[in-house]
Parts: sequence; C-alpha cells; structure tokens
Amino acid sequence: GQCSAHCPVGAIYEKSQTQEFCDAVEADNVHVAVQIAPAVRVALGEVFGMEPGSITTGKIYTALRMLGSDAVFDTNFAADLTIMEEGTELVKRITTGSGVLPQITSCCPSWTDYMEKYYPDMIPHFSTAKSPMMMQGAVTKTYYAEKAGIDKESIYSVAIMPCTAKKYEIGRDDNMAASGVADVDLVLTTRELGRMIKAAGIDFANLKDSEADSPIGAYSGAGTIFGVTGGVMEAAVRTAYKLVTDAELGDINVNAVRGMEGVRKGSVDFNGTEIKVAVAHGMANVKSIMDEIREANEKGLEPPYHFIEVMACRGGCIAGGGQPYGTEDNIREKRIAGIYSDDEKSVVRRSHENPEIIQIYKDYLDEPLSEKAHHLLHTSYTERKLYQK
Ligand code: SF4
Repeated sequence: GQCSAHCPVGAIYEKSQTQEFCDAVEADNVHVAVQIAPAVRVALGEVFGMEPGSITTGKIYTALRMLGSDAVFDTNFAADLTIMEEGTELVKRITTGSGVLPQITSCCPSWTDYMEKYYPDMIPHFSTAKSPMMMQGAVTKTYYAEKAGIDKESIYSVAIMPCTAKKYEIGRDDNMAASGVADVDLVLTTRELGRMIKAAGIDFANLKDSEADSPIGAYSGAGTIFGVTGGVMEAAVRTAYKLVTDAELGDINVNAVRGMEGVRKGSVDFNGTEIKVAVAHGMANVKSIMDEIREANEKGLEPPYHFIEVMACRGGCIAGGGQPYGTEDNIREKRIAGIYSDDEKSVVRRSHENPEIIQIYKDYLDEPLSEKAHHLLHTSYTERKLYQK
C-alpha cells in the first residue's frame, strides 16, 4: 500500500483513523470530547510552515472546534492529576516504607510494554498511576459527564497524541475502561490532526486562539513539561517537595534533570533529606539503570535511587512516532525550548496549585490515592511472555 512508504521494510502500515473522527462528529447524539497531549502543541505548527517549537495551543483548540468537537480539553490537566497521584505514591513509599524504591514512571506505553516483557521483576517498582491520556479519558466519562449532564455512553473521547503506541494503550486491559465504557475511544497522532486540518482547508497559522473547556481543561506549567525528557520528574519533584516539607521548592527549575544526555542522575535536597533521581530516554539507555536496581535488590542493598523516569523516545514525547516527520536533534531542541517557555509563561507552575485540580479533589475524588482515585486513575501490570507457544 502507499502508506508503507515510510517503513524501510514495508512491515508497518500506518493506518489512518481520521475517518473515525469524522464519523463521530457527524453522528447524531454523540458528544465528541477531545484532549491534546503536551507535545502536540509545540510540533503541529511545523505541518503549516511554522517554526518548530512554536506554541500553538490556542490555535489547536480553535481548529478542533472548527472540525466539530463538542468539548476541547487538555491532557496537561491530567498530567497535573498524574503528578498528584504519582507524587503522593512516591512520598508514601519514601516516608512510610510501603512499596519498594525506586518508583519508576509508567506514563509511556512503549516503556511499560517493554518492562512487562523484559523486566517483569521491576513490576513492583512501577507507579500504579495511569498515563495522563488514560486519566483524562476516565474523568471525561465520569466527572465531566456528571457535571455536564451527559450520558457517558454518548461521549466519544478522542486523544490527539505525539505517539503511535498510544493507539494500543487504550485497549491494554479492563483498567482502560474504568468508567464502565472505553475511557478513550480514539487516538489520533499529531500528523493525523495536521492532515484533517489541511483537508478541511483551515488556515491554521492564522487562526485565533481560544481556551480549553472547563472543568478538566486548565493546567499548570508542570503539566506542560511532561512532553520532554525529565519533565515528569521535574513536575513530580515540584509537588513531592511540598508534600514532604510542607514548603514550596525554592528554585522551581530543576536543572539536574534537564538536558539531552541519555542517562542523567542527580539529587534534590528535600529540606535535609537527599532524594536521588535518574532520568533515561531512548530504550538503549535503560539497561544500565535497571541493572543497577536489580543488583541492589539481589544483594539486599539500599536502593540506589528514589525515583526514575523513563521515556522510550529520545528527547521524550516531543520526538514521538506520531509527530511530524523529520525529527532531528535540532528540531528536538526547538520543541523542548517551546515546552520550557510555555512552562515559564504559566502563572501556575505546580500541579497542586492548578485550581481545577483542587476542585476535582474537592468535588469528586476526595484525595490522592482515595478509593475512587484508585479505581479511576490507577492500573496494574502483568508479566508478558515474549513468545506465546
Ligand atoms: Fe509515546 Fe515516545 Fe512519549 Fe513513550 S516517549 S509516550 S513512545 S511519544
């Protein structure tokens, strides 16, 4: 087929799912609710001749409405929610000794699949927090549905992602239907959204900005930086520091975890307690860290780290497999700069200060790791065999 042109061995066919979006928009009594991932906003502009790293969040919201979406939300909101859950889980592991250390991030589906196949002994280390995309889907079909008075069965939940692996994540297991129906119905890549906007004849570069819808659309700068390697770690540190010390982190820019080195190790001073962290991106860089953890486990030594972030793609999601083609390192740098500048321009830069996050716990979830939060926002992992006989 013509779509196989991008795969050198012709083994992978990119199946476009844009028609499914159009069908949902045109169907009667279907409420199309869309979320966009952090990394999409700094790359989509490239499809329309804009500089890599241009922040096009407001234009994307406008374009999605022009394409027929009924509600436009932001995965960054759920990135903040992930930090509340995953940060609380980390603090619990550190302060109460319940659960093993280091805690390892689980928001990259390529990484969780890889771990289940190649590092099943690491399952207890994985955060049980779902990815932001899945959390956003779960609260769209429960909290939002209830507030808006819409049946969850009539909501069609769409996620615009920088990632092709996200297409499979939505059907991983029953936990992905925590609302009782599929929490996310369709994943489209940044490229697919670009093609739809082009096909609709929308002059994207000159669109007016608009805002995301409430009550699951507001986000902090910490939510935005999920799109880059080191970002989940930095966002988590900003909130975990507050949870542990009851004070705010002095310098909000956690430079120890920024940059493009394949493995970065650092520590953050939590008011006298040293919290050791490591960040790896690109699968080739994971092994040395996993070996270090495994060795400590086997020898009964102190865990070498408290928290590890892993992203399968070099540079993080800004360089995901669903982004515009031609992602070279100079493009990566520009998209990363775009993400950090979005964070710097944000009035709220800590997940726990996002007003809509405060509201959802007050109105609906009670507190991080509550029974309801567990049901909707957490998952589990299983060893997967490499070859099924
Ligand atoms: Fe997807 Fe890559 Fe991000 Fe993992 S790092 S979630 S594979 S885009």
